[in-house]
Amino acid sequence: MAYFDYGATTPVDKEILASYIKASEHFFASTASLHFLGKEANEMYLKATKDILDQFALANHNLVFTTNATEANNLAILGYLKNFKKGRIVTTKVEHASVYEVMKSCEEQFEIIYLDVDKEGLINYEELSKALNKETILVSIMWVNNVVGSIMNIQKIIEIVKKHPQIKLHVDAVQGLGKIVPNFSFNDLDMWTFSTHKLYGPKGVGGLFVNKKVGLHNILYGSKVQHGLRPGTFDLSLVIATAKAIKKFYPLTDEHYQYVKKLNNYIREGLKKNPQIIINSSENSSPYIINLSLPSFLGQTIVRHLESAQIYVSTGSACSSKEQKPERTVLAMTNDILLASSAIRISLSHLTTLQEAGHLITTLNKI
Ligand code: PLP
Repeated sequence: MAYFDYGATTPVDKEILASYIKASEHFFASTASLHFLGKEANEMYLKATKDILDQFALANHNLVFTTNATEANNLAILGYLKNFKKGRIVTTKVEHASVYEVMKSCEEQFEIIYLDVDKEGLINYEELSKALNKETILVSIMWVNNVVGSIMNIQKIIEIVKKHPQIKLHVDAVQGLGKIVPNFSFNDLDMWTFSTHKLYGPKGVGGLFVNKKVGLHNILYGSKVQHGLRPGTFDLSLVIATAKAIKKFYPLTDEHYQYVKKLNNYIREGLKKNPQIIINSSENSSPYIINLSLPSFLGQTIVRHLESAQIYVSTGSACSSKEQKPERTVLAMTNDILLASSAIRISLSHLTTLQEAGHLITTLNKI
């Protein structure tokens, strides 16, 4: 079997799983409880949080643990917008559904500008600059696109947004963290989100980093834990596993990148001679994602063909893969319904082997 869907989720690393199990056994008490066990759990929570903040050298941010990045993105956007009755928000046409659909839900109250992308899946930075005015309150742009892997120039975006002190910047960093060495400081982002299960940790936990100066509001109501931003008893073991995943994998970002870049080149080389295969992802994209189309098939059909050779890929993002619609990002990039309907996403990992890549090349060429 060859798994090529690491962009959807990753298998849990054994060491991280062990840390999860150990923490579940030993620190099961609620961090909010006043007794000794509660205090002990709270100390573990504070330590795990500090370890994560230190890993990114974050001095002025709080970290809020959520169920996943979807919830973290919802909290960032909806929680910040609670400060306003109206205003302009600038985002892109290619955000993950957990940002895009939130924006759609806000259209009646706010003016939402969806920036276009070019053939490489990148926004035009001048257009971003022009879209910012006195009414603008929030910019939400992803770091690495989950469908085609395009890498937005976050440093440039920071510089543009910083010219307007009233605008807050939110970045969905889910597909960048631990994969791409950032060309920016996480300290310069007002809010940013990640998901532990994309980083060889368990599912059911993600997080939002929020600068303490951002007036963020809770969107769920209940207890005042987690800086009053996310009520409810949370699973300390997931928090500890998250700290472990970040401490283990973040420092390996460059090493894993170099390996995956080679794999990516090998796959591209193996598919290049086949005129039926159109690679949608630019060569400058994240090497972890290769989006391609076989215009004579629907994306779902290619997924099924590959499945019969025990190769597992997805059509767009995991969240939209059951929808029968043309892939939104590929459509925005190519303006071609045929390419967007026949797109599949191959997503790689440092765990992907050369043999698996070879099997994929042969099978795709056969199809
Ligand atoms: N943002 C991006 C870019 C993603 O790729 C994903 C998941 O695929 C998410 C957000 C949502 O993550 P989660 O599954 O943790 O909700």
